[in-house]
Amino acid sequence: MSGENINISVVIPVYNEEGNLPELYERVTRVMEEMGRPYEFIFVDDGSLDRSLRMMTEFRGRDKRVRVIKLLRNFGQTAAIYAGFSQVRGQVVVMLDADLQNPPEEIPKLVAKVDEGYQAVSGWRTIRQDKIHRKVVSRILNFFIAKLTRTNMHDWGCSLKAFSRDFVDRLNTLSHHSRYLPADVGWLTPNVAEVAVDHAPRRAGETKYTPLVLIRTGFDLLVSVTAAPLQAIGVLGWLLALLGFVIAFLIAGAMLFGYDPGLFTMIMALSFFLSGVQLIAMGFLCEYVSRIYVEVQDKPYFIIKEELP
Ligand code: UDP
Ligand code: MG
Repeated sequence: MSGENINISVVIPVYNEEGNLPELYERVTRVMEEMGRPYEFIFVDDGSLDRSLRMMTEFRGRDKRVRVIKLLRNFGQTAAIYAGFSQVRGQVVVMLDADLQNPPEEIPKLVAKVDEGYQAVSGWRTIRQDKIHRKVVSRILNFFIAKLTRTNMHDWGCSLKAFSRDFVDRLNTLSHHSRYLPADVGWLTPNVAEVAVDHAPRRAGETKYTPLVLIRTGFDLLVSVTAAPLQAIGVLGWLLALLGFVIAFLIAGAMLFGYDPGLFTMIMALSFFLSGVQLIAMGFLCEYVSRIYVEVQDKPYFIIKEELP
């Protein structure tokens, strides 16, 4: 297939999803056929260890609209999605999870928004079917992404999304390594549409995000999105030093009026002050480190959209 007239590319990252793939393939196919636009499936096998790859190979055998991109090993969900993005041929790009938590039946709603002219469209899981700790972590991340991108969205983290091809081409120019897709999307455009979508519990298999992986990932995401934690150290230092200074001031006042503030209070003032000074020094160090951090990310400093004719 030349791929020239493909209209929609559906990108799906797959890591050990043997229990979900047959139904996923069947439901996405039904939805796409109903839409009646030429499409391709891009399954990205993220180093699956179960029968997933064999199943996808079998889909490909009987249906040439299916393409299977096999990664060398397990790189993680975000990397798998970006790998899929690098191969798309359609004019509209849809992404969703393989575990049927994002009902494929919602795809047309998102595509309609892209047709309206939105570059990026995100699902919003109005009723989310996940464990409570997942929801809490998502809330926190959503807050940071909203602050960072200055774009308030209910659910930045929803993995059912649709983009115009232009937008995906632009995402593909980013070359930094520690990535979080919602942050990249928000960084590229504030013009993200939101569509309420259903959410289902996982059909089969296990979530790949165990609490431990989640803490690790959450921390990774936070640090990949912003250098604010580094900068907070300096701020903390100033606050502590100030606190130490205020206490010292009060002690001096008390002594002036003949009160004995006691050794403990004095030591407290001194230790606040000293740790404050240390953190301030470290804060400066962090400012340098955070600049190095921004540089090594190697994000383009600007992206020209087009030159007027
Ligand atoms: N996934 C992947 N590589 C990984 C982990 C997950 O490609 O290392 C895929 C997984 O197969 C699924 C999607 O990413 O299609 C979301 O994974 P999961 O359902 O475990 O995440 P959750 O829904 O718990 O956030
Ligand atoms: Mg899931």
